[in-house]
Amino acid sequence: MKNPLNNTVLRLLLLAAVGLIACLPLPDFWVTQLNYIGLYSLVVLGLVLLTGIGGLTSFGQAAFVGVGAYTSAYLCTQYGLSPWLTVFIGLAITGSSAMLLGVLTLRMSGHYLPLATIAWGLSLYYLMGNLDALGKYDGLLGVPGITLFGWDLGGGKPFFVLTWVLVLLGAFALINLLDSRTGRAIRSLRTGALMAEAMGINTLRFKIGIFTIAAMFASVSGWLFAHFQRTVNPSPFGLKMGIEYLFMAVLGGVGQVWGAITGALLTKLLEDQLQVLLPKLIGANGNFETIVFGIVLVLVLKYLPDGLWSLVARWLPNPPRAEDWTQAAALPERTKPEAGSMVLDVRAIRKQFGGLTAVNDISFSIRAGQISGLIGPNGAGKSTTFNLITGVLGLTSGEVRFRGQVVSGLPSRQIAQRGISRTFQHVKMIPEMTVLENVALGAHLRGGKGALSSMLRLDRHEEQRLLREAAHQLQRVGMGAQLHELAGNLAMGPQRLLEIARALCSDPALLLLDEPAAGLRHKEKLALGAVLRQLRAEGMAILLVEHDMDLVMDVCDHIVVMEFGTHLMEGTPAQVQASPAVRAAYLGTDEDTTSPATQPEEVSA
Ligand code: ADP
Ligand code: MG
Repeated sequence: MKNPLNNTVLRLLLLAAVGLIACLPLPDFWVTQLNYIGLYSLVVLGLVLLTGIGGLTSFGQAAFVGVGAYTSAYLCTQYGLSPWLTVFIGLAITGSSAMLLGVLTLRMSGHYLPLATIAWGLSLYYLMGNLDALGKYDGLLGVPGITLFGWDLGGGKPFFVLTWVLVLLGAFALINLLDSRTGRAIRSLRTGALMAEAMGINTLRFKIGIFTIAAMFASVSGWLFAHFQRTVNPSPFGLKMGIEYLFMAVLGGVGQVWGAITGALLTKLLEDQLQVLLPKLIGANGNFETIVFGIVLVLVLKYLPDGLWSLVARWLPNPPRAEDWTQAAALPERTKPEAGSMVLDVRAIRKQFGGLTAVNDISFSIRAGQISGLIGPNGAGKSTTFNLITGVLGLTSGEVRFRGQVVSGLPSRQIAQRGISRTFQHVKMIPEMTVLENVALGAHLRGGKGALSSMLRLDRHEEQRLLREAAHQLQRVGMGAQLHELAGNLAMGPQRLLEIARALCSDPALLLLDEPAAGLRHKEKLALGAVLRQLRAEGMAILLVEHDMDLVMDVCDHIVVMEFGTHLMEGTPAQVQASPAVRAAYLGTDEDTTSPATQPEEVSA
């Protein structure tokens, strides 16, 4: 599916299939059903991006369908505008209101966002129902059909072709989007902001972006709906429908583009069958299908959380991505600090968590072409120090300078942009992306193409350069043979190497590694040591937090030792090894060995 040639052929075949179905002698009933399925699919495609990929649950998509429908219906009936114009006005209104709502609500996390979507879903519904200009709950009548050069597209098979071509184009655009720089950033949203921001991704911006795109998909569906029904009223745009769209997404497979169409199709067919069948079975009239939907939803969530499409996807061929980047030009690199010059200057940084001082006035500096170790027993404050340098945590006091400029106080993505890159003590990657895609995430800041160029495939040139860089960094850490594996299938050792390759992809001047050897086998550790030495030779400054003392003593030029948040000593590996204070800290002996007078090797920062 990822081979571009196959994709083009496949896409043309699918588009041709729409034309073919239109030529079949289908009864009107089925054409109408397929038209509704197409309208639903458009909305659910947006939900796949927003909820399945981006992890933002929305119950409010039906309201955006309503905005698209009402805008077009109102402008066509009141001002006689052409539907071909009002679709864009609808998109502009939906897009800008989604952006505004997004700015207001997408900072919320946990349950607050879904609650907020319910709130706006309800308020837009009552707004539509109470505005005199929109005909209150009776809505607007006499909406014209869509015509093209006198050809009536307003219903039946012509409408079927129009709708399904839009559905397919929407699906292709989403598939293109997900397979791009922007797509990787979107796919990183679900793992939490920490890693994404460390790669320079402005997570709020991308959340607002997918929220807006999803709303615009809904808006197009609303436009089609208004001109298909020839009338609009608030009822199809209420919260119940918002929930139903989410149901379709979950049923089909909320993480997959084709899951959207599967879900819309199955829901519509099931609904029709049940509406006829259930009252007969039960012997009374009522919306019994809703009860069945509830039960089906629970069963799907429990036994098939990836949705029904995943059953089909399992049987589809999935050849590895063609390595089309080998001829691409290398990315430009930043000018690096001169070997031996000071890269990082940490001055009396402090971090308090309530009453606990996790980092207590720590100072040290790091030079280009040096590997510095930061060691100390568990809980000494090493990871916290990392988080202070990289902007993940705010300082209680003190200052961090990078290449002569104060970086403390900047958000982590801006610190990343200046050339500090890191790995995490607890590996943070996207299991359902390939190794190559995960690593390319590190090169995010070295590209600039956005969602639209990705959807239209105008980003391929840049994309190949980014992938070339990712492949290169993977080869460098010895993972050249695993480019196309799913990251989730990697053992711990390769996972850590993946993080190093990802960090290197950002072309850093300072690399912070938090326990890179944890979980590595002996041979992998030796290879890691070789990579670190090579990076040092290239002039990289490295700060290494590590418990494996063989590795630390082997590769470090300089070591800082922390204990209970404080600076215990620093010096060369030999000095640190000879220090009774360090031995006491690690072994927990309580003899008094910390007097500076007995520590001639202690170097002040
Ligand atoms: P190390 O990486 O050296 O093992 P850490 O920096 O992870 O140590 O932790 C230092 C101390 O700060 C520990 O006592 C830890 O429990 C505490 N700590 C770390 N992060 C937080 C936090 N977010 N909130 C409260 N305490 C924390
Ligand atoms: Mg730690």
